[in-house]
Amino acid sequence: MKTPIELDRYSCNWIGGERVQGTAAMEVENPATGRTIARVPDLEDEAVDRAIESAGQAFDSWSRLPAGVRAGYLNEWAQRLLDHSEELASLLTLEQGKPLVESRGEIAGAAAIIRWYAEEGKRAYGEIIPASNEGQQLLVYREAAGVVGLITPMNFPAATVARKVAPALAAGCTLVLKPAETTPLTAIALFDHLMATGIPAGAANLVTGEAARIGARLMAHPAIRKISFTGSTRIGKLLMEQAARTVKKVSLELGGNSPVIVFPDADPEKAAADIVANKFENCGQVCNGINRIYVHEDIRDAFVAALLSRVRRLRTGPGLSEGADVGPLISGAALAKVERLVGDAVAKGGELLAGGRRLQAEPYADGYFYAPTLIAGVTGEMDIAREEIFGPVAPVLAFRTEEEVVAAANDTDYGLAAYVYTQNFARIHRMIRVLKTGNIGVNGTSLAYPQAPFGGVKESGIGREGGRQGLEEYTVLKYVALTTE
Ligand code: NAP
Repeated sequence: MKTPIELDRYSCNWIGGERVQGTAAMEVENPATGRTIARVPDLEDEAVDRAIESAGQAFDSWSRLPAGVRAGYLNEWAQRLLDHSEELASLLTLEQGKPLVESRGEIAGAAAIIRWYAEEGKRAYGEIIPASNEGQQLLVYREAAGVVGLITPMNFPAATVARKVAPALAAGCTLVLKPAETTPLTAIALFDHLMATGIPAGAANLVTGEAARIGARLMAHPAIRKISFTGSTRIGKLLMEQAARTVKKVSLELGGNSPVIVFPDADPEKAAADIVANKFENCGQVCNGINRIYVHEDIRDAFVAALLSRVRRLRTGPGLSEGADVGPLISGAALAKVERLVGDAVAKGGELLAGGRRLQAEPYADGYFYAPTLIAGVTGEMDIAREEIFGPVAPVLAFRTEEEVVAAANDTDYGLAAYVYTQNFARIHRMIRVLKTGNIGVNGTSLAYPQAPFGGVKESGIGREGGRQGLEEYTVLKYVALTTE
C-alpha cells in the first residue's frame, strides 16, 4: 500500500518552541503490516529536563494571559486540525490501525474538545464566601495548577492528547506531553499544528522515548505539580506511588471491565446493534468498551442470534483499505493476550460461535489481525470475564435475576463504565443507584462528550476528563481571608 504522507516530518520532538532531534531513536510500526514506518527520538534525560524547565519558564506569562487570548490559540489549533483532518486521519490509521472512518471521527472529536475547552477556560470562576466578621472578605481564587506532565495511551492517539492538552492550556497550565511509544506520530503532528498557531515558546512541549525512564523523570521533578495519565491500571498505580514523593496532584484514567446488562424487556435488535458497534470499535481497544455481555435467559437465544449475524457481517482489514470495519490490534503482545483469553474461555467450556483465531492469510500475513469473535456460555470464573480484554472478542454470560446480575456486574476491581438495556423506568433508577461505575449508559453506549465528566471509580481511576470538572483538574484553589477595616 502506498504511504500517502511524508512521515519524516513527524520524527522530532518539541521543546521550548523548537523542533528537537534525539541522539537515539525508537521505531514506529504499522500494525497492519508489522513494518517500521518511522523513527522518533528516544530522548535523553537532559533534554527531558529541558522540556520541564522550558514549561516552567513559560508558566508565569501563559497563566497570566487573559483566558480569551489563550482561547484564541486553542481555537486556531482546532481549526488547523479540521483543515488538515484527512492527512491527520491517515497518519493515525497508519500507526494505530483503526479504520479510516474512525480516525476521521477521532480528529473531528479532538477539534470539538479543544474548542469546548477554549470556551470553558473563560469560566474558571472563583468564589466569594460570606464572612464571619465585619470588615472581612473570604475569597477563593481558582488558579492554574502549574507545570503539568501528561502521559497518553495508544488507543486514541489524538483524542486523549486533546482531552489533556486543551484543558491544561485553557486553565493556564504549561505542559510536557509524553505520548505512547506505539502511536507518537499523531501527537507530534498535533503539536506541529499547535506550534503553527504561534503559541508562546515553552507553553507546550512534547517528548518521546523510553516510558519508564521519561516517566520517572517527570514524576521526580519538583516543578511538575500535576500528572494526568491515561492508560492501564498497572502503570497508573506505579505513577501514583511515584507522585507521592513530591506530593503531585494526580488524575488517572485507567482500565475497565465494563458490563452490559440486557434485561428481557429490552429491544434485542437495538441492543445487539449498539453492543456490536461498541465492542468492535477500534478492534475492541476502547477503555469503556464492553467486556462482559449479560443477557437474561428468557431472551438469550434470540439475542445471541442477533449478535452473531452482526458479528459475521464485520469486515476485517487494514484500516486504510476500503470498507474495513475492524482493523488490526496494536501489537503482537496485544494479539497474544487475546489468544490467551479466548483459549482459556474455550478450555473452560465457552462456546465459540464466531472467530476465535488469528488471521494469517494475505492481506493479514504480517499484521496483528484477530477475527471478530463471539463466545457464549461464558462464566465468571473465566479469565475473559475478569480481565480487560482490549480486543475484538464479545463474551456472553446468561443471568436469571436482577440481584444476581448486579452482584456479578460489580464483582470486579474496575469501575469505569456499565450499560443497561431495559424499558422499565423503576429498574433504570435502581441500576443507576447500584452499579459501581463512574459512567453508565442506559439504552445506548455513547459516553464520551466534551461537556461530560468521564472517569472511573475503584481501580479505574481518579478524577474526570471532560466537562467543567475536567478543567478543574488543572486548577488549584487559593483561599484568601482579606481584612479591610
Ligand atoms: P499503558 O501501557 O499503560 O501505557 C499508557 C502510557 O503510559 C503510554 O504512554 C506508555 O508509554 C506509558 N508508560 C508505560 N510505562 C510507564 C512508566 N513506567 N512510567 C510512565 N509512563 C509509562 O496503556 P496503553 O496500552 O497505551 O493503553 C491501554 C490502556 O489505557 C487500557 O487499560 C485502557 O483501558 C486505558 N485507557 C483508559 C481510558 C480512560 O479514559 N479511562 C482511556 C483510554 C485508555 P509506552 O507506550 O511508551 O510504553
